[in-house]
Amino acid sequence: MAGEPQADCLFCKIVSGDVPATLVRETDTTVAFQDINPQAPTHILVIPRVHYADAGSLAAAEPQIAADVLREAAEVAAQEKADATGYRIVFNTGAGAGQTVFHAHAHVLGGRGLNWPPG
Ligand code: AMP
Ligand code: ZN
Repeated sequence: MAGEPQADCLFCKIVSGDVPATLVRETDTTVAFQDINPQAPTHILVIPRVHYADAGSLAAAEPQIAADVLREAAEVAAQEKADATGYRIVFNTGAGAGQTVFHAHAHVLGGRGLNWPPG
């Protein structure tokens, strides 16, 4: 069923606690944790507890939860004090764009200068 946990999904296992992560914030619908391979001083992932392959699929099926992910991304940036200097919210979508985990997630990047356009 749409949104149900997937046995082979790394981020579903982080939601269930089967894979450990350094949690930063949790809500009824989202989990935020440190990226294991940080690309900036602040690099946190915000994921929905429900499983959708990417942000667009999540937004189409569960718009309120997609909004929760976005709100939590801003909360995380404020908590990490990345909001004062600016931060970036990234949803890589598709392997060609660098997506490697097919459970929707927002990257929250900050704490250093961020070039535009990104590579
Ligand atoms: P993406 O490439 O957009 O799919 O992002 C996946 C992100 O998950 C990458 O930035 C990885 O460093 C990160 N990642 C992979 N495994 C883990 C893990 N066990 N805990 C935390 N972050 C992870
Ligand atoms: Zn999943």
